[in-house]
Amino acid sequence: MDIETDVLVIGGGMAGLVAGITAAQAGSDTIVVRKGLGATADSSGAIDIAGYLPGGETPFISPVEGLAAFSSLLPFHPYTALGHSESGETDFERIVDTARESVHWLKDTLDGTSASLVGTLDSNIGGLSVIGTWKPTCLLQSTMYTERLGNEDEVLLFAGISGMPSFIPSAAAKSFIDLVMDSGIGPRKVVHTLIEGFSVSKQPNLSGMEVARFIESDKGLSDFAKLLKEQIGKVDATLVALPPVLGAKNPQSVKKYLERETGVEVFELISFPPSVPGYRLQRSLETALKKAGGKLMVGYDASKFVKDELNIITIALDGPRRFIQVEPKSVVLATGKFIGGGIASGRESLEEPLFGLPVLNSERIPVKDTRPQRMTKVTSVQSEGHSVFECGLGFDSRFRPTDSNGATYSTNLYVAGSVLCGYNYHVEKSGLGVALATGRVVGRFASESAKEVS
Ligand SMILES: Cc1cc2nc3c(=O)[nH]c(=O)nc-3n(C[C@H](O)[C@H](O)[C@H](O)COP(=O)(O)OP(=O)(O)OC[C@H]3O[C@@H](n4cnc5c(N)ncnc54)[C@H](O)[C@@H]3O)c2cc1C
Repeated sequence: MDIETDVLVIGGGMAGLVAGITAAQAGSDTIVVRKGLGATADSSGAIDIAGYLPGGETPFISPVEGLAAFSSLLPFHPYTALGHSESGETDFERIVDTARESVHWLKDTLDGTSASLVGTLDSNIGGLSVIGTWKPTCLLQSTMYTERLGNEDEVLLFAGISGMPSFIPSAAAKSFIDLVMDSGIGPRKVVHTLIEGFSVSKQPNLSGMEVARFIESDKGLSDFAKLLKEQIGKVDATLVALPPVLGAKNPQSVKKYLERETGVEVFELISFPPSVPGYRLQRSLETALKKAGGKLMVGYDASKFVKDELNIITIALDGPRRFIQVEPKSVVLATGKFIGGGIASGRESLEEPLFGLPVLNSERIPVKDTRPQRMTKVTSVQSEGHSVFECGLGFDSRFRPTDSNGATYSTNLYVAGSVLCGYNYHVEKSGLGVALATGRVVGRFASESAKEVS
């Protein structure tokens, strides 16, 4: 055997890294392997816990309100399973306690990193997006948060960067003005500008990451501050909304510098993928894993396994240079959904590629005979969402995947994050929240189970 470990986590997105950090902090020898980047690195980096009920148009006032709705209406939702007691009852207090503990823990873990967070479980924050709309979320990266968007006296400037097509400040300003007019809340003066002459590169179509890296250089930062100050002066702006480009490594100090040089508060908008804040979240969690004593192996594809009647015995990792056999005491499967690769979709079926576990829908019915196309709707954007996103692995009361008979597949295999069935993160706005809460619980279970074997 090449490597022995207490806990092997397969998948290095939010769920896998949270499970890995938790297990390492509990004293287990922990390895997290990932073959690549998944949805976490592509996400907006804002941690949604519960935004909407599927089909609902009105956002939850708070994640707690959302957890209450999910747990009373959606019996197979992963959040509901957090409250299952030994007797099979659902204890709502337990769900809230678990979610609250996960939120506190994540904020502590990311404090002082490039992805430090603001927010609580008791109210959703309205994050402003690059298209000038609100998104309800639980935790925003501190550089994306401002309390001043509700003030009518502010002069809000949406400032884009010439050559960066993913943010069109005039369109954002127009949608935002519509929202302010509808609600009667927010700045009465909203303006926009495109900053010209910020020479990041000679190439057209600048990405957010290119701009973020250049802004972090000494020249980039002072040039940008000068150009931004000029635009602010033209309209007497008091608050500036920028695309999320305030640096990949230390956005808080870029924000402070810009605010000092311009005399005006700046904040980042929530953007579409690929997003710099998603990358910051991914990297900050990876650093936290190493700090907790865990090991990260990048570029390794868990491709084979050996199992006896009860337990997973070995996992084979297909690496960049060689094949490695790992003998873990317990295993966490946190391989994500379609982007991560935890669920694969062909024309005829959905599959779980590593263990061949059955893929179930949100009613816990196997979808082996349903073509994925049948689980999507004709129009892409709608409040009920596409049921294909609710499909994933079934699990028992300790988050161990179930087999085709609905029985626990293996006593030492746990599952967390978007590979689970029973929730639709697109419409619920619950993606990173489910990955966080289930990763936290499963990290503890996997560590306890490894200790029992020792
Ligand atoms: C474009 C986009 C934007 C989003 N925005 C938000 C948002 O703003 N807020 C929010 O809360 N949620 C958002 N979500 C949802 C959220 O990103 C996901 O629900 C969450 O990241 C899932 O985390 P995960 O750890 O389960 O999976 P992933 O992050 O997908 O991680 C899966 C990991 O498993 C690895 N892997 C898979 N198979 C193997 C294997 N065989 N061997 C080794 N490694 C393997 C992958 O390489 C990857 O590292 C967004 C999703 C998308 C797609």
